Amino acid sequence: MGKRKFKAESKRLLELMINSIYSQREVFLRELISNASDAIDKIYYKALTDENLTFNQSDYYIKIEADKDTRTLKITDTGIGMTQDELEKNLGTIAKSGSLSFKSENEIKDGHDIIGQFGVGFYAAFMVADEVTVVSKALGSEEAFKWESKGTDGYTIEPTEKDTVGTEITLKLKENEEDENYEEYLEEYRLKEIIKKYSDFIRYPIKMEVTKSKKEDDSDEYVEYKEEETINSMVPIWKKNKSELTDEDYENFYREKRYGFDKPLKHIHLSVDGTIRYNAILFIPENRPFDYYSQDYQKGLELYSNGVLIMEKSADLVPDHFSFVKGLVDSEDLSLNISREMLQHDRQLKQISKNINKKIKQQLLSLQRDDREKYEKFFDAFGRQLKFGVYNEFGANKDTLKDLLLFYSSKEKKLVTLAEYVSRMPEDQKYIYYATGDSIDRIDKLPQTELVADKGYEILYFTEEIDEFAIRVLMSYEEKEFKSVSSHDLGIDSEEDKASEEETKDNKDLFDYMKEKLAGKVKEVRVSKRLRSHPVCLTADGEISIEMEKVINAMPDNNQQVKAEKVLEINPSHEVFQTLKDAYEKDKDKLDLYTNILFNQALLIEGLPVEDPVEFTNNMCKVMVTA
Ligand code: ADP
Repeated sequence: MGKRKFKAESKRLLELMINSIYSQREVFLRELISNASDAIDKIYYKALTDENLTFNQSDYYIKIEADKDTRTLKITDTGIGMTQDELEKNLGTIAKSGSLSFKSENEIKDGHDIIGQFGVGFYAAFMVADEVTVVSKALGSEEAFKWESKGTDGYTIEPTEKDTVGTEITLKLKENEEDENYEEYLEEYRLKEIIKKYSDFIRYPIKMEVTKSKKEDDSDEYVEYKEEETINSMVPIWKKNKSELTDEDYENFYREKRYGFDKPLKHIHLSVDGTIRYNAILFIPENRPFDYYSQDYQKGLELYSNGVLIMEKSADLVPDHFSFVKGLVDSEDLSLNISREMLQHDRQLKQISKNINKKIKQQLLSLQRDDREKYEKFFDAFGRQLKFGVYNEFGANKDTLKDLLLFYSSKEKKLVTLAEYVSRMPEDQKYIYYATGDSIDRIDKLPQTELVADKGYEILYFTEEIDEFAIRVLMSYEEKEFKSVSSHDLGIDSEEDKASEEETKDNKDLFDYMKEKLAGKVKEVRVSKRLRSHPVCLTADGEISIEMEKVINAMPDNNQQVKAEKVLEINPSHEVFQTLKDAYEKDKDKLDLYTNILFNQALLIEGLPVEDPVEFTNNMCKVMVTA
């Protein structure tokens, strides 16, 4: 059979592996052992649920063999094996297709980030080997096949002989380089070290021949001999006592499991001995996975029944708002034979899921309290998901999530919780104020914030699209309602309030005239209570704010455009106001010009596009010429 080419993306990833200056090459072994263990999990599960298959415990193992003469390292497993098709599909393409296209050339130059973000699995072999051979026989198949590749130019697959079901991977190690010694991966002590470090918790024995020595019966001489030994302790980490484990153990487990290649920000280890007994290890990742906010991302925890993996991603165990949580649950009380669909409705699972969610929330709250910096890091990565959580399902989870939210505060100049905001509210402040905008800088300059800020009230800055939607669902916090600084009634009694109403009345004709000139664009023109130094701003009456109009209309599959009821507000204490009044009396053409300019200014401040930029700039010129 002829040489086949790798898919373009696989080839790129492979090139990266081959040329990577990644410092931790040793992880290749973890990757291969992890695949071997997954393959044994699959056959183990089949044997348990299929009466026609019989296996003994001793039939499941992984074996590592180093041969210095041929410079090869062999990893053998008794797992489920691969058919010819599977060899082609699994090793010729990368499963994480699309992952590379997300990254710029620069980011992937040294491969570090790729390894960090996606993990590399099988291809990691090419970090240390220039020739890789995979011989595999699938369960239920009579034939075995050999996959072979010397790197990026392609691979071959051909029939071969193999007695037993499983997979055997042979790596021909690269020649040593000036600063890289590949031979170390043939050394017993080094292999032991790597296996202990990354794969100690693998459930199946990882066997290796090790050199031992003993005294000959009738002499003082020690003689060396070889004996097969199981290198890993095989006790799954989740069954160990918390006190025996270090942060590093959890970190290694996290990587070994490929939950992510970042560090976990926090781990939660549960051993529950109630009506349902279970162990769980949960992780909050440090970084957001690259596909987190895409449809490709799948949430879920691994589900074990007394040490046997029965489902890789049990989505029911974590709600959407905590979909970033990785980890596993192992319960003796779950039946193995229960079908996977049945599992989804299992009452016990529901109970476990409920407990887990409570724990995750508790842990996040304690992180918020005890290590704010870390919590902010977490929130930076996943806060948006919590806000979606508040908004989704008509607010069903809002009470669970409201204390986990953070927003930027105008006063503190940092992220604060709603509880912190409310605790600082002065007696006379009725509402929790917020302002929306593209960035903190922009909101800082928003004219609409002037009155509220002048009163000394704190304002929360909403810079993400979801913010205002979430808060509308939340409605209030500790009985304090949320109020946009742009809403008509700010709930602030002030002298200006009454004065502005009178001014609006007194100048009704002027405002009606302006409104007519802005036909269809504004619902009303009126005197502003909130402006201090700026001449104009836009606000909205009614349910839909200007920000919401922007967001909803920008949604790709939205075919119903909404419109905020915009109001053009004019600052009565600004000189411009007098100019308008004069123009109304003496020169309507001028007033038309001014109205257009002021309205467009207000649009610009709001971050909205000017409808007719040419007309607007021409109008500006007209003003300059006549002034
Ligand atoms: P991942 O393990 O993340 O899916 P890999 O590139 O490591 O990615 O492996 C791709 C696929 O190849 C695996 O999902 C698995 O189906 C198959 N595979 C790899 N190694 C083995 C093995 N030792 N036995 C059986 N199948 C394997």
